[in-house]
Amino acid sequence: MSQSPVFDKPKVELHVHLDGAIKPETILFYGKKRGIPLPADTVEELQNIIGMDHPLSLPEFLKKFEYYMPAIAGDREAIKRVAYEFVEMKAKEGVVYVEVRYSPHLLANSKVKPIPWNQAEGDLTPDEVVFLVNQGLQEGERDFHVKVRSILCCMRHMPNWSPEVVELCKKYRHQTVVAIDLAGDETIVDSSLLPGHVEAYNEAVKSGIHRTVHAGEVGPPSVVQQAVDVLHAERIGHGYHTLEDPALYSKLLRENMHFEVCPWSSYLTGAWKQGTEHAVVRFKNDKANYSLNTDDPLIFKSTIDTDYRMVKTQMNFTEEEFMRLNINAANSSFLPDNEKKELLDQLHKAYQK
Ligand SMILES: [Zn+2]
Repeated sequence: MSQSPVFDKPKVELHVHLDGAIKPETILFYGKKRGIPLPADTVEELQNIIGMDHPLSLPEFLKKFEYYMPAIAGDREAIKRVAYEFVEMKAKEGVVYVEVRYSPHLLANSKVKPIPWNQAEGDLTPDEVVFLVNQGLQEGERDFHVKVRSILCCMRHMPNWSPEVVELCKKYRHQTVVAIDLAGDETIVDSSLLPGHVEAYNEAVKSGIHRTVHAGEVGPPSVVQQAVDVLHAERIGHGYHTLEDPALYSKLLRENMHFEVCPWSSYLTGAWKQGTEHAVVRFKNDKANYSLNTDDPLIFKSTIDTDYRMVKTQMNFTEEEFMRLNINAANSSFLPDNEKKELLDQLHKAYQK
């Protein structure tokens, strides 16, 4: 990207998937090295096949991961490198603090049932995946001067993985892991109530592990309600459809709930229909607590500037609002209080507040 960023100041990002933020070069490299077939052999072709330019259905979107995850999953070197390069990517975008999330199970090929992406059984466990990602992130932090923390994802259709996810959060809480997430298809009815997820989130509360939940992205406000009431979510991933339940929305506004908004993602996934008012406009007008995030920049062919540019050019967001929302993001980060204060000081200084 040659043009200068729309908001050229330090930024905080809270919602981005590690497995949706891989360099195409790295996918090609490991596909070739490991002899795993890919749908293309140049960066441009691969980007055209994996990337999106216009809205697709959920199955079409999920198919993208099937193209490239086999090249990365199950490979120690690849996983660590993806984590390291992620930090480099964020440094270039002017992000000073990022919380990156992923499902450890979807990168493993051992002690995971079923083994994902049609991989043969190997010896890389979800536990070691977290260890390797932490190493890559921590080396990236040192080399690129970005502060990075991680969030481990449960998957809605795999409640049997969730108890291990919270145990990994506890085990690695001092090596970047700060929170648990629930990702995947939120249209699976009442998937927030599946005992595996409920028990994992209860354990997170008990152990002081922070909690976010993908909810109200494409699903109804009841998913948001369940995220808050049953899973004790402290932040909501997306949350756009909360607006369809005014009582719930007022309650969350009063409680200063944080919404992790992903504008460009919401256009490409169809979570937001063009021609209607985007939920983020309402969030802005109501002075709600929200952040701007990329979600899956590999698939959306984006950087964080894409999201800032979209709301600036299409929805008249101002520099003042960008500063306000980043300070809210820092305040709603899952850092301990002393580190949160440091981050806030850094932003206030840069914003001359
Ligand atoms: Zn997401």
